[in-house]
Amino acid sequence: MAEPTITPMMAQYLAIKEANPGALLFYRMGDFYEMFFDDAVAAAAALDIALTKRGLHLGEDIPMCGVPIHAAEGYLLTLIRKGFRVAIAEQLEDPAEAKKRGAKSVVKRDVVRLVTPGTLTEESLLEARRHNFLAAWSEMHGDGALAWVDISTGEFRVMPCPLTRLAPELARLAPREVLVSEAREADCAEIVSDLKAALTPLGRASFDSQGAERRLLGLFSVGSLDAFGSFSRAEISAMGAIVDYLELTQRGKLPLLRRPLREEAGSLMQIDAATRRNLELTQALSGGREGSLLTTLDRTVTAAGARLLERRISAPSRDLNQIHARHDAVRFLLEQGRFSEDLRADLRRCPDIDRALSRLSLDRGGPRDMAAIRNGLDQAGRIAESLAPVEPPALLAEAAAVLVGHDALAALLDAALVAEPPLLARDGGFIAPGYDAELDQTRQLRDEGRGVIARMQAQYVEESGIASLKIKHNNVLGYFIETTATHAERMLSAPLNERFIHRQTTANQVRFTTLELSELETRILNAGNHALEIEKRLYDSLKQAILAHAGPIGEASRALAEIDLAAAFADLAAGEDWVEPTVDASRAFEIEGGRHPVVEAALKRSGEPFIANDCALTSGETPAIWLLTGPNMAGKSTFLRQNALIALLAQAGSFVPARRAHIGLVSQLFSRVGAADDLARGRSTFMVEMVETAAILNQADDRALVILDEIGRGTATYDGLSIAWAVLEHLHGVNRCRALFATHYHEMTALSAKLDGVENATVSVKEWQGEVIFLHEVKKGAADRSYGVQVARLAGLPESVVARARVVLEALEQGDREGGGKKQMVIDDLPLFSAAAHPAPAPAAPESAAIEAALRDINPDEMTPKQAMEALYGLRALL
Ligand code: ADP
Repeated sequence: MAEPTITPMMAQYLAIKEANPGALLFYRMGDFYEMFFDDAVAAAAALDIALTKRGLHLGEDIPMCGVPIHAAEGYLLTLIRKGFRVAIAEQLEDPAEAKKRGAKSVVKRDVVRLVTPGTLTEESLLEARRHNFLAAWSEMHGDGALAWVDISTGEFRVMPCPLTRLAPELARLAPREVLVSEAREADCAEIVSDLKAALTPLGRASFDSQGAERRLLGLFSVGSLDAFGSFSRAEISAMGAIVDYLELTQRGKLPLLRRPLREEAGSLMQIDAATRRNLELTQALSGGREGSLLTTLDRTVTAAGARLLERRISAPSRDLNQIHARHDAVRFLLEQGRFSEDLRADLRRCPDIDRALSRLSLDRGGPRDMAAIRNGLDQAGRIAESLAPVEPPALLAEAAAVLVGHDALAALLDAALVAEPPLLARDGGFIAPGYDAELDQTRQLRDEGRGVIARMQAQYVEESGIASLKIKHNNVLGYFIETTATHAERMLSAPLNERFIHRQTTANQVRFTTLELSELETRILNAGNHALEIEKRLYDSLKQAILAHAGPIGEASRALAEIDLAAAFADLAAGEDWVEPTVDASRAFEIEGGRHPVVEAALKRSGEPFIANDCALTSGETPAIWLLTGPNMAGKSTFLRQNALIALLAQAGSFVPARRAHIGLVSQLFSRVGAADDLARGRSTFMVEMVETAAILNQADDRALVILDEIGRGTATYDGLSIAWAVLEHLHGVNRCRALFATHYHEMTALSAKLDGVENATVSVKEWQGEVIFLHEVKKGAADRSYGVQVARLAGLPESVVARARVVLEALEQGDREGGGKKQMVIDDLPLFSAAAHPAPAPAAPESAAIEAALRDINPDEMTPKQAMEALYGLRALL
């Protein structure tokens, strides 16, 4: 049997496939991207498209599927979201070229781009109001560094980052893809997968710091990186890995990156991953955006403004000057009222300049991106003009200063482009008339040609006497003269046949041409093509002009985002009645009438009021700790979180939801909730809680703000109480930070008498006819009782169980009051549960002893409604 042969096309496919491991290969064939073999099977399943077959390979059917070019972006998005990487192989020559080389010759193809989650630029693949970061982490001689870039906006940053800081920093940035060297893959795998980002290991060479330096010098065309600041080897290595990866994925076409900025670790409020999750900064606990602080807060009107808001909320400042400058801007815009509204209307008309610029730099842009830059620069000029007479504070004045100086480019684009250009340069029609004389002439020729054809048709009608004669056009014949078959005879005989040359006969029509017509056709075609060529040339020169001005355009875009954000904060403050916080170098933490912005917004929708509450975590100069007790559902968690959010908002540059706020700079923010299940990671609830608490006790400095909600709940009563107790003592004595501590353990309220600076507070409730009413008011003092039984009743526990629980509780409380061994005696004396509802069976069945024992272990004081339910099921199971 003959060896099965491989077709030349398959040979080419397999070679390209082999050169691009780890990616699905989109192989361009005419108007489709085709996938073969395993790629086809995987893609067909992921995209829910038909899997077909094409020919044989080594005697076997080749599985195949394909997506049409015009719909490819949508399919790409689905694949990237599902975790695939896609290599796009295009045809690099006209198929006619290949034919010239021989019948069997295949069209040249190669990969022009590798599409990965961290390297997207297309509008349809990106979220307009979110960043799309690609990060790289590197370690050299024990020194770690993290670099990150958003190629769709050009943002490029780097900072020192030991492995221990990697998780919190990545949690802040939420990158879509993280690069590490193969040797460190194992160290980073869990951190990255927790973020649901893609981890891309690269070879050692990508991280080599010398090669990295060369790449960076080349990218920015500078002789030394010193111009940008002094970087460690690790930082250079991390930045270099990013550039290397961009070269790989963009196949040599590098995006426009801004000069790298070094972020100082100490300049930002530190917030770790658990705290971010817990405070629902950019994502709600349920996973979606709805209900997050970011979504509730976002009043920005531009995409770049929204991205800036996300960065600020994710990384509030620790620099007093910066914070004050931002507050000044918000106050100014708030006071300006009407002016600010007009300003926002102007901002709303600003397109996303950053992303347009990035697409143009990667040759993925089009005339519409140029128009976006034109409109953006026009708008920037207008905004700068409107700001000048009102004498804005420094931050806005500095922003306004970079909004001007683009007149030459703006005028060029104004003159060159039509008002609403098409998306793609391919079909022309985007250069405005009057901009280029040669183009105007050529277009005239092309358009006149059409008029000439009309006149020619009239002349032929007259000559032939056939009124229905038409000159038409199709892609096969070009221009032709058409008459119905009834006139065929006449046309094909003298004298008309001297002039009209027969081309085609169809069922109903006969088609002809003339020498004149084919000459004219060539002229029209040439003029059309020539016009396209001229437009293409002009497009390139406009692109060069824009890219040469990329730096200032980027600055203007950043300034617009800054103005947008300040105006958005002002709008929020005006609409929601927020107040300017005082932020200084003290240790104060005094909030009057504080509110939780997200809970308040939710309550507002259901027409309920939010009860504002005060908080003061300082006694003199010493930081204080509030110990908060109160029943479930009273509002403890809400109160804790609102205070953390107020500090965060203040340092993010916003006004805050309070009547008055005085905050001494917060360096780190920690928030923990006891017993949050983390089943996905397979750790016991309690273990997670303790790991997280340990992190706080080990890291919190004296400027930290810590909120702990029900720490110690995940273990047996006395264990939990002891741990909570010791944690509080540590925070007070060692960390010496400001803290809010919510607990169920009433025993802890005794600490306030022992430790200076620890105060008791409680969320008040009222009992009315056996029901508990939540007042949501936080006041000084300890809760008198936990109202667990009443809350359990609200939760729908059967009346008989609630009644029984009351009996048990009363007995226990009596035992407590009488002290000593009394409690045990009282418990021993308790009549059995069954006796309350049914006559007691005599003699006592063996199970009643077990039930009795189980009941004895129950302490309703420490139970959540859910635990009470569980206990009840447990009791039931003993019957
Ligand atoms: P806890 O932590 O004490 O169990 P939460 O803080 O979860 O209670 O609050 C329970 C519910 O009470 C919240 O979902 C909210 O609807 C309401 N609530 C909390 N605080 C307030 C408040 N200050 N004003 C009005 N309603 C509140």
